[in-house]
Amino acid sequence: MQVEGLENLHALYKEAVDLWGSEAQLDMVVEECAELIHAIQKAKRSKGTDIVPAQEHIICEAVDALICIGQLPHILGVPIDIFTKQHEKVYCKLKEKIQLSKRKKETSQDCAELRSPTK
Ligand SMILES: [Mg+2]
Repeated sequence: MQVEGLENLHALYKEAVDLWGSEAQLDMVVEECAELIHAIQKAKRSKGTDIVPAQEHIICEAVDALICIGQLPHILGVPIDIFTKQHEKVYCKLKEKIQLSKRKKETSQDCAELRSPTK
């Protein structure tokens, strides 16, 4: 099974909100995010053979949370564009932060090499 395109996903999310109502679906957002938090906390305590099932549990709960979060524009009655633009903005900020951090790391390694040359 393939995940549908963004337009189809939002049609499905809207259908869920229309069917079960905004209040119930907002409760689901809270519930699924809480389940994800719980799965992460539990996985952090896992050891040995428990690690793989704990990671699988995180993935399941993350997908549940993502699907509920995807319904938020429809729950709030906000145009999807607002979420898309905010997503792009935060994505770009993260990209810039990573590039800056990599440059700082390279610069500090270069300085360390200058201070203590190997030969
Ligand atoms: Mg769940």
